[in-house]
Amino acid sequence: MKAFGGPENLESATLPDPVAGPGEVLLRVRACALNHLDLWIRAGLPSARIQLPFVLGCDVAGEIAALGADVEGLPVGGRYAVHPGRPCGRCEACRDGREPDCPDYGMIGAYRGLPGGYAELLVVPAECLLPIPEGMSFVEAAAVPLTFLTAWHMIVTLAGLTPGETLLVVGAGAGVSAAAIQIAKLLGARVIATSTAREKLDRARALGADDVVHHPPEDLVRAGRRLTGGRMADAVFEHVGPAVIGEALKCLRRSGRLVTCGATSGPVAEIDLRYVFDRQLRIIGAKMGNLAEMRRVWALVAAGRLKPVVDRTFPLAEARVAHERLAGRGQFGKVVLTL
Ligand SMILES: [Zn+2]
Repeated sequence: MKAFGGPENLESATLPDPVAGPGEVLLRVRACALNHLDLWIRAGLPSARIQLPFVLGCDVAGEIAALGADVEGLPVGGRYAVHPGRPCGRCEACRDGREPDCPDYGMIGAYRGLPGGYAELLVVPAECLLPIPEGMSFVEAAAVPLTFLTAWHMIVTLAGLTPGETLLVVGAGAGVSAAAIQIAKLLGARVIATSTAREKLDRARALGADDVVHHPPEDLVRAGRRLTGGRMADAVFEHVGPAVIGEALKCLRRSGRLVTCGATSGPVAEIDLRYVFDRQLRIIGAKMGNLAEMRRVWALVAAGRLKPVVDRTFPLAEARVAHERLAGRGQFGKVVLTL
């Protein structure tokens, strides 16, 4: 990325090869999934502290090309995905295992200006490697880390969803929603998924959603009432923002919780606070998760109990087109670059 702004600022360039230091490995990147975060970073996100030119890409899978000093027991040529978070490791939040609360939180291809996976080579800490099981492609592996980690952190850690509870998953086409539907079903919860696109509702059902709502045009609150027999949802999984958050809050039962990890329809939302205090609702913000959560959810993916959902692949050289695909919101699941 040569400048902040539109996709025209992405271009192929040759940079010096990175070198693995102590505790690190050099990865030959084979696939890198896109996230909405890529679009925000590209547009310019001051908190990301990025220096141009910059290499985007938070979700990486590849093969080990070389080992840094003191790294032992890892096979050169071994296939791995990468946990994207890079907390400082020293602050109070890091010591408590609350890595996303680290004031110096870094992420490859995003925060703290750490280069990412739209590249042939990437240096990563050996402890962040996630072994790809036989039978899983690099593309599928790259489609996992950020969305499954975030969805796990939201549903399991923050919302504390329990068996038999009802989770409303807004915007089923997003990669993070495809992860959320599967995680909630694995926990034994009931899932109601929404989308503006009818064909995405069929795919949400195929992933395990018990009920679907074509919203809009359908009225979300009325549908929620009908599908829960008036009880309303125990929790809402949200990442769309102003286009839906007000209605989504009205779909919650008393003391229900809404977990949000994004705002793809814009950053500022209007909500009716009377619903929040009178019904004692909880609105919980979520960002990523820690390495232990990543390993837990990765183990379930590796065991085949959670499945990555890939929308489409593009060669790295077509990163601009891939960005437009994601911005157009036509996708179901992850858009992935291949190398
Ligand atoms: Zn820290």
